[in-house]
Amino acid sequence: MIEITKTNIEKAINKARQTKPFVKVIEFRRYQVTNKTTGATYEVKFTKINNTKYAECNCKATVICYHIGASIGAHIVLAEQMQTANG
Ligand SMILES: [Zn+2]
Repeated sequence: MIEITKTNIEKAINKARQTKPFVKVIEFRRYQVTNKTTGATYEVKFTKINNTKYAECNCKATVICYHIGASIGAHIVLAEQMQTANG
């Protein structure tokens, strides 16, 4: 698991904007990200511990990768919907 910071997630989102991978929701906090060019598919998971956000991806990268960057948009929308539903 890698801690998400403002800096590393911004980088990842920028890279995702260039790569434009396809993001599919598996369930809340779990996403499948497919590179449209290579067809490679990876799974991204988000975790929140004591208000700190973490992410992990099963690709080779050991940093916040663009798969995580691509997923976080969908994740933020879903997280907001869950909060609205619970509140
Ligand atoms: Zn990845």
